Amino acid sequence: MKCTRCHERAEINLRSHHTAFCRSCFILYFQRQIDRTITKEKMFTPHERILVAVSGGKDSLALWDVLIAQGYHTEGLYLDLGIGPYSAQSREKAERFARTHTVPLQVVTLAEEAVSVPTAAQFTHRVPCAACGTMKRHFFDQAAIEGGFDVLATGHNLDDEAARLLGNALHWQTEYLAREKPVLTPTHPRFVRKVRPLYRLSELETAVYAFFRGIDYVIEECPNSVGATQLFYKDILNRIEAKMPGTKLTFVQEFLRSAQPLFVAPDGSPPRECEVCGMPAFAAVCSFCSLLREVERKQDNAERKQAAAGVWQEEPQNRRTGEGGREFPDSPIPDLKR
Ligand code: SF4
Repeated sequence: MKCTRCHERAEINLRSHHTAFCRSCFILYFQRQIDRTITKEKMFTPHERILVAVSGGKDSLALWDVLIAQGYHTEGLYLDLGIGPYSAQSREKAERFARTHTVPLQVVTLAEEAVSVPTAAQFTHRVPCAACGTMKRHFFDQAAIEGGFDVLATGHNLDDEAARLLGNALHWQTEYLAREKPVLTPTHPRFVRKVRPLYRLSELETAVYAFFRGIDYVIEECPNSVGATQLFYKDILNRIEAKMPGTKLTFVQEFLRSAQPLFVAPDGSPPRECEVCGMPAFAAVCSFCSLLREVERKQDNAERKQAAAGVWQEEPQNRRTGEGGREFPDSPIPDLKR
């Protein structure tokens, strides 16, 4: 098979576009697709400062790579979620990328700044992704506004967008459908514009781009994603795509062109600022600070119960990570004079 553009040997066949590319033409195609999306959707200009949310995975690092290559003013933001070896590996990949490209990367360690995802899930009895989503939103919004950025860019690709659209359409989540756009304008002065420049590029395309560009990314998925509904939707869409190439792109593009404007978003402006952290909030305390309060309250209760049951901690436990304390469950309250 020959490259559609230069007629050299093709290395990738894009059935959805009825085209094939050699390595260098594919890199050019991928970068141009993003460039066109940024311009067409008026995502940002070369004069604006862009905060790129990076996870250490292929999508966010491929996006950052393209923005750097196109000369945009970028800075990365990595959240260390505290999810065991997955977080350690993904952090290492994000840090290595920033070092190799000599670009700035902010690292926020949730266990130090708030509470790790596993600890939050354990004490609130929420699914980890719910706690994770609340904390990601808070730290992304906070870093963007406090760092003086104009825009926050995330690596959501076509497969993510199609799966989200399918889920929202199946349940007729009209409020979410109304907000399903590649550019979200801020609804509060302490929010910045949020953009998804990869929304027309598939997971396969970003993986191939990362491979061709030699980007070292974390291949393992977050362990909490096992069994996620979004993966089920992605699987269904992949099966449709295999029979009818181009379906995912048509599904998302036609929704944005014909259907999305018909959905009316309710006023999503947070009416106040959180009395604890100062970020936009719908109540006196924002959902992030409420989550932290709940974790602290439940940790206190657990410690009181342990003490009442005669469990003694030799060293104070790290309340945020849940680590560091050694327990002596068989000991009575110790006689300190003995
Ligand atoms: Fe967070 Fe869930 Fe995604 Fe893991 S799968 S990074 S816990 S949202």
